[in-house]
Amino acid sequence: MARVALVTGGMGGLGEAVCIKLAALGYTVCTTYSPGNTKHDSWLAAMREKGFAFRAYECDVADFESAQACVAKLVQEVGPVDVLVNNAGITRDMTFKKMDKVNWDAVMKTNLDSVFNMTKQVCDGMVERGWGRIINISSVNGQKGAFGQTNYSAAKAGMHGFTKALALEVARKGVTVNTISPGYIGTKMVMEIPKEVLESKIIPQIPMGRLGKPEEVAGLVAYLSSDEAAFVTGANIAINGGQHMS
Ligand code: NDP
Repeated sequence: MARVALVTGGMGGLGEAVCIKLAALGYTVCTTYSPGNTKHDSWLAAMREKGFAFRAYECDVADFESAQACVAKLVQEVGPVDVLVNNAGITRDMTFKKMDKVNWDAVMKTNLDSVFNMTKQVCDGMVERGWGRIINISSVNGQKGAFGQTNYSAAKAGMHGFTKALALEVARKGVTVNTISPGYIGTKMVMEIPKEVLESKIIPQIPMGRLGKPEEVAGLVAYLSSDEAAFVTGANIAINGGQHMS
C-alpha cells in the first residue's frame, strides 16, 4: 500500500514542489492550509488538472488542538501518516529594537511550536508501526543568524535541537528525524524581497551565484523519506549553494 505523506504548508512555494515530488514517487500526499487560506479549492483543482490528487486539510499548525483535529481527520480518511514534513513557516522581519512580543510569538508559534504540535500527532504511531520519517524544514538563517530575524533565526535554530533530541529517542524504532536547512530558494517568500536587494546583497553571498530551486529541496526531502535513508538521523542537511558551510 502507498505510504502516506503529510506536508504542512503544501500550497506554498517549497511545499508544492515537495507534494509534487512525493506524489510522483507514489506516496499518498496530504497537505494543510491555514484557516485564512481562501484559495485551497482552486489550488487543489489546478493540481488535479496536472494529474495530482492531493488531499488538503485545514490546520493552524501554530495551534495544538487544530493540529490534533487535522491529523485525526486525515488518519480516519487516509490512514496513518508515514512521512511528516514540517514545512509551514512565516517571517516577520524587523530589527530587535523594533521586535515586539506579537511578532516574536507569531514566528515562534508558527515555525517552532508547530513542529511539536504536528509531530506529537504522528510520532507514537510511527514508533508502534516501526517505520517513520520526520523532516523539518529549517533555514540557513537558523544556522548563521540573519539581520532582522531574531525571531526567525531562533525558531529555525530550535528545530535542530528538537530534531537531534527526538532522533535519539526513536533511533531504535525505525523512525528517523532530520532537518533540512535551505538557503535562498526562489519561492514567493524570497521573490518578494526587492529585486535590487536580491541582486546586490543576497545573490552575491551565494558562491553558486543563483537562488536554489524548490525542486532541489524537494529532491532532498524525497531522499530523506526513502528506505535508502534509513541510517540518516539527527542530521541537518544544508542546501544553500555554498552560502554557509559548517
Ligand atoms: P511560503 O510562504 O510560500 O509558504 C509557507 C506555507 O506555510 C504556506 O503554504 C502557508 O499556508 C503555510 N503556513 C503559514 N502559517 C501557517 C499556519 N499558521 N498554519 C498552517 N500553515 C501555515 O514559503 P516557502 O515555501 O518559501 O517556505 C516553506 C518553508 O521553507 C518555511 O518554513 C520557510 O521558513 C522555509 N525556508 C524557505 C526558504 C526560501 O528561500 N523560500 C529558505 C529557507 C527556509 P497558507 O498559504 O495556507 O497560509
